[in-house]
Amino acid sequence: MEFATPLPIVILGAGVAGLSAASALVQGGQASVIFDKGRGVGGRVATRRVSLPDGTQLQFDHGAQFATAKGAGFAAVLGALQTAGLAAQWQTGGDTGGDTGGGRSQVIGAPAMSSLARGIAQAAGLQIVQNAAAKSVRQEGALWCIGFADGSSVQAERVILTVPAPQLAGLLGPDHDAVRAAASVQVQPCLTLMAAARAPAPFTAARDNAQDLAWIAQDNSKSGRAGNGLTTWVAQTSLPFSLQHLEKSSDEICALMLPLLCRRLGLAANDIVFSAAHRWRYARADVPLGVAFLHPTAGLYIGGDWCLGPRIEAAWDSGAAIAAAILALG
Ligand SMILES: Cc1cc2nc3c(=O)[nH]c(=O)nc-3n(C[C@H](O)[C@H](O)[C@H](O)COP(=O)(O)OP(=O)(O)OC[C@H]3O[C@@H](n4cnc5c(N)ncnc54)[C@H](O)[C@@H]3O)c2cc1C
Repeated sequence: MEFATPLPIVILGAGVAGLSAASALVQGGQASVIFDKGRGVGGRVATRRVSLPDGTQLQFDHGAQFATAKGAGFAAVLGALQTAGLAAQWQTGGDTGGDTGGGRSQVIGAPAMSSLARGIAQAAGLQIVQNAAAKSVRQEGALWCIGFADGSSVQAERVILTVPAPQLAGLLGPDHDAVRAAASVQVQPCLTLMAAARAPAPFTAARDNAQDLAWIAQDNSKSGRAGNGLTTWVAQTSLPFSLQHLEKSSDEICALMLPLLCRRLGLAANDIVFSAAHRWRYARADVPLGVAFLHPTAGLYIGGDWCLGPRIEAAWDSGAAIAAAILALG
């Protein structure tokens, strides 16, 4: 990585919080560079693409299932994405239980959840460096030095961290004030199964937190997901099940979850043409911080969904609040 340093603003994390901060900064006339350890944009707003041996292409929204907006700011973002054809409404009919949107509109990315994040990034022309895993964030005089796993580093006048709260200690050190300030935050795991079946769908989506599979969604019922003649499914485990099996391998998790899904859908094992599992170690900010961001010292801003709650909108609002604080400095 070659940058004429120091950069004015570096953002770690191209999830919704990082994208939100960068977009608002652009609107306020301030450039930033986002670095993310992943290959894609969007963090937990994610889509897995799969090619079967016969060439069939499949996709699964294996992270966030849909977005909802309580506030006008994020509602406007979702509205703009729908106007651009990058988002759509998702009708789950009367077959959902529990909180699948609570009567608010459920918005999905089109043709994939990751389209939401890519749409935000492209609309603002954001500069994003992928496959860039930060290892350390250290203050050097008036500047910040961000060290990466490949041995490179960049300097910045300001740095915005949007990684999950439990990962702050690895970047800042366990004794940093921000790590202590975020100690009350709890981010819980979730195990996810992706499966494709040669069988019709008995329902579109179902939530029942008392079941090991707390959420099941027919992914190809979402706009733009053809399924190629198959029904495609995403299932998420309850918190107790997630905690009990968190350290198992992906194959072991898949082997545990697939029979549960088949039972709920009334499928035989040979109806399944694809299955895989994903472990989200930090999925849901069940106990958030309660403030939009941390600003422990000059030039350092820390945010993410875990500041405000376990939702995409919380991540958006946290990033937007950080940008507003920086722009207010003039
Ligand atoms: C299975 C699941 C289902 C969900 N369902 C919903 C839902 O239906 N509706 C809803 O509103 N929300 C849902 N959520 C929650 C929602 O996805 C999150 O609240 C939101 O996406 C968090 O955004 P963020 O930017 O704060 O964090 P993230 O999306 O986690 O972004 C953080 C980014 O930081 C990067 N990063 C981490 N460490 C480093 C490092 N060292 N160096 C560089 N980059 C790094 C990561 O790669 C990631 O891209 C769900 C989450 C999961 C996991």
